[in-house]
Amino acid sequence: MRDAGQRRNEITISNRATYWTVAPLDMLVAAPLVGRLLLGATPLGRLLQRIPRRELAVEVDWALTRYIAGITGQHVRTSTAVRDFSLVGLAFPFAVGACDLLSGNVAIFRDTGMLEAHVLAHEFSHRKGYWKELHAQVLGYLSLVSSDELVLQQSALLERLHRNLRVLAGDDRATFERLVRSSALRPELRAVLLTLWPSSTGIERQLHTGLRRLYHLRMRLTGQAGISDYDLGFTNFLYTFETTASARQIAPPAGTLHRRSRRD
Ligand SMILES: [Zn+2]
Repeated sequence: MRDAGQRRNEITISNRATYWTVAPLDMLVAAPLVGRLLLGATPLGRLLQRIPRRELAVEVDWALTRYIAGITGQHVRTSTAVRDFSLVGLAFPFAVGACDLLSGNVAIFRDTGMLEAHVLAHEFSHRKGYWKELHAQVLGYLSLVSSDELVLQQSALLERLHRNLRVLAGDDRATFERLVRSSALRPELRAVLLTLWPSSTGIERQLHTGLRRLYHLRMRLTGQAGISDYDLGFTNFLYTFETTASARQIAPPAGTLHRRSRRD
């Protein structure tokens, strides 16, 4: 009985069989891509650069698998393969990574430095079957701050700060920059945050706003609150998880910023 139970605790999802040359969902975004290329808004060199990330992906996957198994009792084994390029990244220039809904292919579009571990954890959460953005944000965060690897903890905390500042800045890039520059972060961490909201020309800005609206709509159609799930939803979830007296789990200490309410 025990052996059978242990065997049931392992689930392997093979991504190799579906590791297509082109991600299926890429087909759906080809039209916006052509528009961006015609407008000269795609610096191809920047998007095609290759960053060694194999080891980091293995560490992140291990932390995520272990964290999920700690709650569900199931070790969901998935590929740690990551590609550098996906057309989705050109169509949605604000995205730094993506996981293809049909194949589970994960792509990371640009070097986000210290944030990369969280980007990987987010995309691997999708790959393990958690498709909603809020779920991927939270699972990525909690798994990394539960890890013993300080570099993973730091990445998760930096993402949380990034999202907190985004909430405070709203749609105003200048406010975001001011908040980042006035933070007590080390210069290299500050630099990472500043690259996440690059300046853009008038037409680029209009295009980005339109694409963000489209993406927001896509999220709404799949039962999510919308694009705010990445920052406001994420911030609110962690605050509630840490402070509520009724949560069934204790928030991982390394990633806990708020004191839990006392149970009466
Ligand atoms: Zn996602």
